[in-house]
Amino acid sequence: MPHEHTRYTSVISTESATLVSVSDPASERYTAAPAPASLQRVQSFLNTRSTGLPVEPDLLARPASANSWLRTLEWPTTPRLTADDLTSLRELRQSLQAQLEPGRNTSQMATQGDLALHLEKFRWKMTLREGQLALSAEGGGWRQVAGALLGDIFVAQQHELWPRLKACRNPLCSVIFYDSSKNQSRVWHNTLVCGNLINLRASRARRRQEAS
Ligand SMILES: [Zn+2]
Repeated sequence: MPHEHTRYTSVISTESATLVSVSDPASERYTAAPAPASLQRVQSFLNTRSTGLPVEPDLLARPASANSWLRTLEWPTTPRLTADDLTSLRELRQSLQAQLEPGRNTSQMATQGDLALHLEKFRWKMTLREGQLALSAEGGGWRQVAGALLGDIFVAQQHELWPRLKACRNPLCSVIFYDSSKNQSRVWHNTLVCGNLINLRASRARRRQEAS
């Protein structure tokens, strides 16, 4: 049985409409470079996956862990997620993850189609609140969460922040990190953890090849 994480009990919330970075327990457990506030929900959502060494649990596996994860971040609405909601959210997470993983075996077109199928399940509405336009998905439960995430991605794409959100190149890891480097060239979620490991393996393989 996976152990429960209890270290993220402090929930920071503000009444302000502008997003501020809060503690992101999902990404912090993988020590992934954090995204700016506008992409934090998306990064956190993707890092609810079970991965890493040692393996961390899937925070969307059960309603209890999913709901406590949801409440660590700020959302337009925070519905109480059910097991059915989680099935849909895990599917969405998988197709978003596929968009970010470099060199996956599945073709680009296949993963694009996968996400497009999810998008067909949504109806959108635009609202005006204190002079700010906001896009939200109609419906309850997981649609509220997914709608906020897709809205964040939409905005990030307009501001060219989206390409900076990356999946670690180590296929066993694929943790989502934010590349804030000037030339946008980072490939490891954490150079110490994944970069060194892969470089070590590559140099061992080279040595073996040279010796044979
Ligand atoms: Zn990694």
